[in-house]
Amino acid sequence: MEFDQSGVNALMEITSRPDLVFVRGQGAWLEDHNGKRYLDFMQGWAVNSLGHCPPQVVEAINRQAAQLINPSPAFYNQPSMDLAKRITGASCFDRVFFANSGAEANEGAIKLARKWGRLHRNGAYKIITFDHSFHGRTLATMSASGKPGWDTIYAPQVDGFPKADLNDLDSVRALVDDKTVAVMLEPVQGEGGVIPASPEFMQALRKLTSDLGLLLIVDEVQTGMGRTGKLFAYEHSGIVPDIMTLAKGIGGGVPLAALCAREEVCCFEPGDQGGTYNGNPLTTAVGIAVFDAVTAPGFLDSVNARGDQLSQGLLALSRKWGMKGERGVGLLRALKMDRTDGARIVETARDWNPEGLLLNSPRPDLLRFMPALNVSADEIDLMLARLDEVIAKLRG
Ligand code: PLP
Repeated sequence: MEFDQSGVNALMEITSRPDLVFVRGQGAWLEDHNGKRYLDFMQGWAVNSLGHCPPQVVEAINRQAAQLINPSPAFYNQPSMDLAKRITGASCFDRVFFANSGAEANEGAIKLARKWGRLHRNGAYKIITFDHSFHGRTLATMSASGKPGWDTIYAPQVDGFPKADLNDLDSVRALVDDKTVAVMLEPVQGEGGVIPASPEFMQALRKLTSDLGLLLIVDEVQTGMGRTGKLFAYEHSGIVPDIMTLAKGIGGGVPLAALCAREEVCCFEPGDQGGTYNGNPLTTAVGIAVFDAVTAPGFLDSVNARGDQLSQGLLALSRKWGMKGERGVGLLRALKMDRTDGARIVETARDWNPEGLLLNSPRPDLLRFMPALNVSADEIDLMLARLDEVIAKLRG
């Protein structure tokens, strides 16, 4: 059955989309306009931390929408304070500013660091970031990102984001000058291909930045809220960053992000930062539902168990098909392939019948897996079996 395509050309073309429309989702599954089901291991690029339409999120939206949606950020609202208190209580940070996307939270982190540099480091403003990093699609966050080609697409870039190499402390040290205010990184580079910063590197980076009086900013937009098996990925290395950004998983699918900072760094004054939707009770009420689910006893144990299962299964597939292994942390993992047929695998898996499988290939020789954090053992086994069939069809 065709779907009503009359609106297709009314949308700006920002990506090439397949000829299907998703009409509903439940847990690990999506359903299209023909009633075909798809096992979803992308989950909206890691945003649906509890799967599609989880009851807690639906309940929080309904309850809050009936009560109060947006009184304006100029007034306190209870859900935003309650969520901020949960985040500060579970992390090394003291204050939170809520935003609507990862890019916006990172813009806030950049602004906070620049203001801090103006106040405390003689106007220093440069933030060292990393090759292959991804921090968002606003002008400043694109400039901060180390994605190939992004330096020219909307040139000129925002100034002040020299790029170092991940896991190479000397490359960071070499970039520091008297205009440097901070270093910003993803604890696991997600879009860059699921490349973890090693705990040793994170620790050495913390020491270097502390010794030099620089801020350390962790972009946990993809890794935060349980994705890597700890609530926040910086915990794996036992460090205390100065600033952290969250998005994706914290909203469980709705647009919610957070800029978190330690008290010493919180130098915004009234008027410095804002936004009409920021910290609205509708999305922060959802954030509370997600936070309470992810921090419930046993939840992160199960993320780690499922992460191990996925890792073992991907390793077995890699051995069977002569690939190059797997990598990742918790439920953010990648299969390293020996060929550049990622896009064909993604397409064939999606078009599989009677049930499709949704995967992501951020690089031609890599498949990335970011299922719901409450994915079941059976769903992981099913995904691995289906992927094996897809590879057999394409390569067998
Ligand atoms: N930072 C990281 C590490 C990301 O993975 C992403 C999105 O993929 C972003 C920032 C941007 O987030 P958003 O798309 O919500 O603006």
